This record gives sequence, structure tokens and C-alpha cells, in this order.
Amino acid sequence: MPEERTQHSEDSKGRTGPEDLRGSVATFDRVEEGATAIATLSTKNHEVFESRVRDRSHVCLACGQASVHRFLYRKNGCDILRCEQCGLGRAETMGFDPESYYTSDYFSGKRPDGYADYIGTENILRREFAGTVEFIRKFRASGRLLDVGCAYGFFLQEAKRFFDVSGIELAEDAAEHCRRSGLNVFTGQADETLLGRLGTTDVIVLLDVIEHLPSPRDTIALLVNHLDPGGIIVITTGDFGSLYSRVAGAHWRLMTPPQHLWFFSQASMQAMATSLGLEVEHLDHPWKVVPLSLISFQLTRMSGLRPKRIAISNRLGLPVNLFDAMRVVLRKPSR
Ligand SMILES: [Zn+2]
Repeated sequence: MPEERTQHSEDSKGRTGPEDLRGSVATFDRVEEGATAIATLSTKNHEVFESRVRDRSHVCLACGQASVHRFLYRKNGCDILRCEQCGLGRAETMGFDPESYYTSDYFSGKRPDGYADYIGTENILRREFAGTVEFIRKFRASGRLLDVGCAYGFFLQEAKRFFDVSGIELAEDAAEHCRRSGLNVFTGQADETLLGRLGTTDVIVLLDVIEHLPSPRDTIALLVNHLDPGGIIVITTGDFGSLYSRVAGAHWRLMTPPQHLWFFSQASMQAMATSLGLEVEHLDHPWKVVPLSLISFQLTRMSGLRPKRIAISNRLGLPVNLFDAMRVVLRKPSR
């Protein structure tokens, strides 16, 4: 269990300290309905006070330090904290069950923080994934490739032109769709059993997946064991240290707990990779062609309206770069 700390001695201005509260009480003592007023005021003071004592100490899964995790804000009922050492963000959730969450609803616009219409945008997604395959081939031209969280297999369809591909997907409908399309895809989580059945591989990709994992460090460590020496792990995820993320705060487009649980910065990605014996070979913030339907879906959601699907925009894509998402290539040293 994470150790919790209170830090009421830390407030130098003393606005939320006990002395202030006593002062307020004295003032209101003279009023006739003093008791009620005191109760109201105390509650208010307590709220301010509480936001400052929500900092916690955790052992950070990225940098490995037992460090202060600063309370930033609450989003969707989850506390968002950030490691003071490396900048890794974490969402503290209560009883979130990924298996019951990542169903077909997630990919078809029925969840506001999921995809608008994943299958309907296959053409745009596949063009985008073809570019990703081209990028990966600069680091590894061929061999065996495993896609962790492969969804409907659109990336694998592009990758199989050069690689011997397989995938793992938690959503049963999506995994079934892959198998019907002739792909070697297993339903479940990337655990020891499943990876054991797959054997070792040369390339492992996690495209916008690591932020969803309950314990990304354990998963990556397992994956490293199933990676051949000289092999690579390619990860895409948001950049919590980016300007947009810092300015937008709780309104950042990728700040969607409990769906997203981890928010990596460049430093936290570097720290985790190094501690797992991997070398960061490449890190950039790539341009991306995004379906117009997803853009309007996310904009509508951020404006607080109920997202609606717009049929025509499924076929159109826009090149987008907010420099708030990173692409990382990690290499397992060949000994
Ligand atoms: Zn850290």
C-alpha cells in the first residue's frame, strides 16, 4: 500500500494552518448564528487544506525512487499525481477493471474517451500505420514482430508485408476480427503464459497502449525477456512534459483516466528504459494523419457536449502535430 503523508506544516503563508482557523472561529463567535457559520467556514478551509495534503509518497515505477508525488488535480474521479523526480504522471483509480472496459463499445463511439468509429476509419489508420512500419524498418528491416494491444489488426496488416507478425488484444471482438482476417492474434493480457506460447521476437510494438496498462513496468520487463538480443521495442504515448499538456492541465486531450493511467515524460521514459537494461535509440514527436471524425469527436467531448458521429469525416484525415505525443525506440543490447 502506498504510504500517505500529510504536510500541513509546509504552507509558508499559513493560510490553511490551524491558527487561521482559530481566528475565523473567534470572529464568528460574535455572530448570533455563529455555530452554522463556523461549520461552513471550516468546511471551506478544510477543502483548501485538503488539496495541499494530497501529495503522496510512492515508489515511482519509472525512475525507481521513493519520491514525493505532487497532487495536480482530479479528473473523472481520479487523483492525478506527478513524480517530483522524473515527471511520470499517475492516475489513482478505484476499482477500474480493464477487461470489462475494453469491449467493442470502446472502439465504436459508445464511450466518450474511446474511439469514434475505429473500423470505419480503417483506410486512414492503415495509411498512418504504413508510415509507422516504414519508420520501424529503419531500425529493424524484417524478422518477427509482436503488436501488444493490436485492436483490429490494422497495423499488423501493414507490417506483415515485411515481418512475420502476431498480436495480443484484450477486447475479444477485436481479436476475433483479427483472426477472421487471417492474423495470428491471441485474446488476453501480455502475461507470462501468453508470451510463453508466442516465443521470442525481434520487434515489439505498443502503439498508444502503455498508458492503459495496470503496471507498465512489469509488462515491459516481461516483454524484454521475450525480446531477442538486438531487438527493439517501439512505444507511442503522450508526452506529459509537453507544453500543451502542461498548459491544458486537466483539459489535456490525453488526460482521460481511468482509461489512461500513466502519463510518461521524456525523462520518465528514459529512466524506465535504462533501469530495464534498454537503450533509448530514438525519441521524437511525429506528425500523424488523424481521421476528421476522431478530431471532431475529441473536440466535442472537450467542449462538454455529447459526441456525435459524422459519417463523411471518416474518409478524411488531417495531418496533426501538437508535439504532445512521443514515439520511442528502445533497443535490447546484443551481447
Ligand atoms: Zn519518477
